[in-house]
Amino acid sequence: MHIQNKKRFILMTGALGVLIIIILVVTVLFLGRFFSKQEPVQTTPKATETTSSQTAQSSPAATTTTAAADNQTADTSTTTAPSTADPSDVLVLVNKTTNLDQNYVPADLVWVDLAGVRDTQMRSVAATALGELFSAATKQGLTLYCCSGYRSYATQKELYAQNVSALGQSEADLVSAKPGQSEHQTGLAMDVTAESVGFDLLESFGDTKEGQFVKNNAYLYGFIIRYPNDKTSITGYSYEPWHLRYVGKDVAKVIHDKDITFEEYLQSN
Ligand SMILES: [Zn+2]
Repeated sequence: MHIQNKKRFILMTGALGVLIIIILVVTVLFLGRFFSKQEPVQTTPKATETTSSQTAQSSPAATTTTAAADNQTADTSTTTAPSTADPSDVLVLVNKTTNLDQNYVPADLVWVDLAGVRDTQMRSVAATALGELFSAATKQGLTLYCCSGYRSYATQKELYAQNVSALGQSEADLVSAKPGQSEHQTGLAMDVTAESVGFDLLESFGDTKEGQFVKNNAYLYGFIIRYPNDKTSITGYSYEPWHLRYVGKDVAKVIHDKDITFEEYLQSN
């Protein structure tokens, strides 16, 4: 009896052991399959978000095209420290060597109530001055359109990332500014355009009646053509006849009359 009980005990224990091992194996296999299925489930929403945001970003054709065309020669290979200057100063310098802090958002942004390709914002003082410039153009029988004003650090970051994704790093660096290096983050810049150039941002805008009007009159309202022709070596950007920067009437007049860049003005004052 003792021996039979012992055998039965050993058999029972062995069977129980095997059963536990089987349960463990099944559990491990099940969990393994479960987690391997979870991975794509977790990434799917990310992929969808990316796709939908790209679609949303690119659906107004001008958004991607103009932003990419703007700041087209930005050399973003060098990382620079944020400027210590007051970013809310209307004379703040933003370029490839003097950047804005990622947290800077102008405190006085307003929606620009002018004809435009899309809704956009500027700082209050610049928006008022731009309205006066547009009114003066209207009196000459010309119609200017707003294209792109304030852009946040985050928007610029997205834009840059999209360009890197679509074009590759080196190509993207030729057509897109890194976040913190775009003057649009100041809220003092506006890209303007006209129907005659298909509401796009093209160098040929400088040769249109509207472009000529802007070139000859913007300073009267406190704006400068920030990236003039043949000044790339100083500004770091190719000719952008559409990119207006508000600096105030006095400074704009000096820059216009002396035919100098904003960088040259700041160095001599
Ligand atoms: Zn611009």
